Amino acid sequence: MNITVWNENRHEQTNQVVRDVYPDGIHGTIAQFLEKEGHQVRTATLDEEEHGLTEDVLHSTDVLLWWGHQAHEEVSDEIVERVKQRVLDGMGLIVLHSGHFSKIFKTLMGTTCDLKWREANEKERLWVVDPSHPITEGVGEFIELEKEEMYGEHFDIPAPDELLFLSWFEGGEVFRSGCTYRRGQGKVFYFRPGHETYPTYHNPEIQRVIANGVRWAEPVKQEKPVYGNAKPLETIGSK
Ligand code: ZN
Repeated sequence: MNITVWNENRHEQTNQVVRDVYPDGIHGTIAQFLEKEGHQVRTATLDEEEHGLTEDVLHSTDVLLWWGHQAHEEVSDEIVERVKQRVLDGMGLIVLHSGHFSKIFKTLMGTTCDLKWREANEKERLWVVDPSHPITEGVGEFIELEKEEMYGEHFDIPAPDELLFLSWFEGGEVFRSGCTYRRGQGKVFYFRPGHETYPTYHNPEIQRVIANGVRWAEPVKQEKPVYGNAKPLETIGSK
């Protein structure tokens, strides 16, 4: 599969803590473990021409991963529309962590996608609530992260088509951490963990879920549905 990992790549420029955790950038770390799965992986970042998401790149992308946080507003509406059209045409999209507030996710959801948050170095336990789903394959009952940012309900999203993970945080909140949606012919997976100052994307279980998500989101080989005025298949009213 052809995978593109998109990252805003701003914390990596300005925050030494983030640079120490992700010397190759969040996108670099994600690309490396997906390459080991046998995929063709490219990265793209905000400051590249067209944010690295040219027509050519998107048309040859089967699944796009998205990590953004502080610069959502700098993503051009034109590129967001281009990504949206590709999703509706079948490209898979995996939205990570603070990507919940990205233009592309909000556009596809149609809600504010707002939530509660707190940075307090607290434990997160992601409970698998759908053990039959391919995205949770190989994960046990739960994944435990010693330190993460808290995201809490209410999370203002449409009811997910499938809910895969429910997070519990040390401070008491819970959160729908793994949600899937269908939009047009495309599949969308939102996966919560991955605050930039924690080594979450180095965690093998988190990598397993993301790799599973990529496989699940692979476009189905299918003709585009036919819309509009249609000729009858049978002769109507002949008897
Ligand atoms: Zn965060």
